[in-house]
Amino acid sequence: MRTTTGWQAAGPATLRRTSLERRDLRPDDLAVRVDYCGVCHTDLHALGAHDQDAKSPLVPGHEFTGTVTATGPEVTAFSVGDGVAVGNIIDSCGACAMCEAGQENFCHSFPTLTYGGTDRHDGTTTLGGYSREYVVREAFAYALPAGLDPAAAAPLMCAGVTVWEPLHALGVGPGSRVAVAGLGGLGHLAVKMAVALGATTTVISRTGDKRDDARRLGAHALVESTDSRQMDAARDTFDVIIDTVSAPHDLAPYLKLVAMDGTLSIVGHLGPVGIEAMDLLVGRKKLSSAGSGGRPATAEMLRFCAAHGIVADVEVLPSAQVETALDRLGRNDVRYRFVLDMSDLD
Ligand code: NAP
Ligand code: ZN
Repeated sequence: MRTTTGWQAAGPATLRRTSLERRDLRPDDLAVRVDYCGVCHTDLHALGAHDQDAKSPLVPGHEFTGTVTATGPEVTAFSVGDGVAVGNIIDSCGACAMCEAGQENFCHSFPTLTYGGTDRHDGTTTLGGYSREYVVREAFAYALPAGLDPAAAAPLMCAGVTVWEPLHALGVGPGSRVAVAGLGGLGHLAVKMAVALGATTTVISRTGDKRDDARRLGAHALVESTDSRQMDAARDTFDVIIDTVSAPHDLAPYLKLVAMDGTLSIVGHLGPVGIEAMDLLVGRKKLSSAGSGGRPATAEMLRFCAAHGIVADVEVLPSAQVETALDRLGRNDVRYRFVLDMSDLD
């Protein structure tokens, strides 16, 4: 076993620095020194849901960049010293129809999650990127494109790919009318990507507080979801809405904004949804969802972001301030992603 240091849940809002074990390298594994790890709202959900009496520890973190420090004997794509990026899935069966289609994120036997997942070989619970070292199969590590700032690129690996896949799958391009609901970590990357794809892009936010930011990110307009006049004026106007809102919410007001034959894709809060079929019937509207990305789409997303200079707007904190980051994220006090600098774990 290899030993590293990381931040382990000790309560819904408490993490303690502790030593962690990483497996010895398998033939196709990389050891990665984690340099930067993004703080995703999913980490907050996971900490809130974690049972402190559970046998398995919780170490969050599923969007990170780092440097290869060792390679197994069968590794071909990476060498020691290479910059890499790792996202929220780190393995899959590799044999089902989804994996064969390059949609490992939909693996029939469930993709292995970067934290809180179950290792397919030894049955251990995976521990995430809030740590100094991670061990990962090379197939689920991606070369970090030169020119992308490693701290600001880390959030591309969860927030970025999660919004990239639906934008891409729904055919967003020049002439598309896209709205992004919720301007947070996922939302601000969705805006940057939709704009770069050539779409006319609108932000749907609870207030007008982020109007200047929305414009700076390239959005053409901001609609306040709490203002019925603005919502009425936007009725039937978007081909695609990417809903990144992190809390349970009524979908009906957002469906009303979808244009004829358009799609509302919910990627934020995932749970039971209640809708009136009539809200789909009128305008033949579609409700969809997406999560994470397959390996080809993840690599393509990184290429696209490198070509268009897209990274997250980040506030980088030493990893020792992880509780501050989580607390402020929970209060919507970040524009637009916290990233932890892991070098203080040495
Ligand atoms: P975030 O940075 O906190 O952003 C969420 C945004 O949602 C906020 O900025 C806010 O936007 C809006 N919002 C928050 N509470 C709201 C409420 N009560 N009503 C309406 N709007 C509200 O979170 P994130 O990291 O982007 O994650 C967003 C969601 O996606 C989380 O639930 C996360 O678990 C989920 N997620 C899913 C996947 C997947 O695979 N599908 C991957 C990653 C994350 P405004 O201030 O603009 O209103
Ligand atoms: Zn995430």
